Amino acid sequence: MALLNAREYRRSLRDGRQVWIGGEKVDDVTTHPAFAPMVDAVAAIYDLHFDPAYAERMTFALPEGGRGSRFYKLPQSREDLVLRREMTLAILDTICPTMDRFGDETVSALFVWSDRKAVLDKYDTRYHKAAEGWLHRLQRENLFLTSGNTDPKGDRSRGPHEQDDPDLYLRVVKETDAGIVIRGAKYETGAAYAHVACLKPTVGQWVEANRDYAVSCIVPLDAPGVKHICRAPLVKGGGATADVRDRPLSARFDEIDTLMVFDDVFVPWENVLFSRHTELAASLRADLTWWSAHGYLTRCVAKADLLVGTALLIAEQSGTLSIPAIRSKISQLMVFKETVQGFLLGSEAACDVTPAGNVRPNQAIQNAGRVFCSQTYSQMTHLLREICGGAVVMMPDRASFDSPETGPWVSKFFRVGKSSADLRLRTMALAAELTSSNYAGRANAYQLFAETPVFAQENALFNTFDREHARNRALALIADAPASVAKAA
Ligand SMILES: Cc1cc2nc3c(=O)[nH]c(=O)nc-3n(C[C@H](O)[C@H](O)[C@H](O)COP(=O)(O)OP(=O)(O)OC[C@H]3O[C@@H](n4cnc5c(N)ncnc54)[C@H](O)[C@@H]3O)c2cc1C
Repeated sequence: MALLNAREYRRSLRDGRQVWIGGEKVDDVTTHPAFAPMVDAVAAIYDLHFDPAYAERMTFALPEGGRGSRFYKLPQSREDLVLRREMTLAILDTICPTMDRFGDETVSALFVWSDRKAVLDKYDTRYHKAAEGWLHRLQRENLFLTSGNTDPKGDRSRGPHEQDDPDLYLRVVKETDAGIVIRGAKYETGAAYAHVACLKPTVGQWVEANRDYAVSCIVPLDAPGVKHICRAPLVKGGGATADVRDRPLSARFDEIDTLMVFDDVFVPWENVLFSRHTELAASLRADLTWWSAHGYLTRCVAKADLLVGTALLIAEQSGTLSIPAIRSKISQLMVFKETVQGFLLGSEAACDVTPAGNVRPNQAIQNAGRVFCSQTYSQMTHLLREICGGAVVMMPDRASFDSPETGPWVSKFFRVGKSSADLRLRTMALAAELTSSNYAGRANAYQLFAETPVFAQENALFNTFDREHARNRALALIADAPASVAKAA
């Protein structure tokens, strides 16, 4: 099968999937007001693959002929990493700078597994074949892959096997010659309008008692027994019901999160990446972000740039751009953007080669970058809030602007110099979305948690930093005769 186009993507979602939102069953996600805007946004990404201006960034030549999606190309050179960044930026630049989930970073687990044949074959030769088979299929068809790591977890002080209800973490309930049966639940952004999920164990202690929970597999999102229980849309009634001028982000880019229930779902062996191996669960958790954090940093660059751009527009329109205190705050946003960009470009420039000969971003730089971004993003949105002042949460809405009775008053009080009231209301609405809306709340939580919680990122940094080099530098100064002094003597 060839790469899906936008029309085929929409059609593929009418597959009888079991989706609920607000307690109601959804007949067709492509037309439902909570999902239709995101289906449109993802459809636009499918179109980009066929746009001659973007095709080189979005696709690559498959060895067997034809073009594959670059989302799913395992990097084999530094150039591949650069092209991945350019591909993701093309989407963020042309569709939406705050969009997070579209498949390019969720594939990281398959990249890691594809890289690890010798290790996997010691357990079961089907595992590496499954990873390779899926990578190849994703490249050819460009299916939308989501990521299910996080279970509901229940009592956090107890491990998976110690919970009162054994299903609070996803587990294997049966293994047969044909495959495995899984039961439990996972959180997944975008699942209602995606094709397949890559399920993986969550952060945790992968001791032998948790063996049944140490499972990773690919599951089609319309498989029998898969139920999507979606969170409420950020705009009541769904983004499609809102005026985009009031809600420029949540009306169009509400990436609905879902509790995916797996009610005894059968998974054939060709879709199983491993089953009941705690060492493999620990190993995948440790290295899961080898490539996904590169996608996260790329998104952070676009988001940081948007914060700067919004701050500039607000300050230009309200005449505060020349105030030193405001310029200082905008400069701090610029520092944030350029720092994130530095982490991203640095991780590419200092990339290294994996044991299997693939190329990954420098892990210490990348891990430091994601710790920095996860912890700093909310401070940056707070800076934007300070630059904006309080009006962004108090202003009248679009209906008031359009009303013949109230519109003239709104125009009168929001026009400033050359900036029309229309332009100012639109700009302030964007600032509200980034600082003060439901969208902002979710975006802040996403930045903090979705790239794994900060404590796990810090562990990853600790493990990938060149500690020996740093220790030796310090040791040299506390030796009886420092190396340089000893040499001179
Ligand atoms: C908007 C959004 C979208 C998301 N999308 C996805 C998705 O698509 N797929 C997916 O799998 N997950 C997704 N997640 C879930 C995300 O991965 C989790 O929120 C994250 O892993 C933390 O888990 P938790 O929320 O259960 O927090 P908990 O595990 O309950 O943790 C609560 C707090 O305790 C801290 N804590 C817990 N254990 C420790 C420890 N051992 N040491 C130190 N601190 C600890 C945590 O850091 C956190 O601050 C998403 C989250 C958000 C907010």
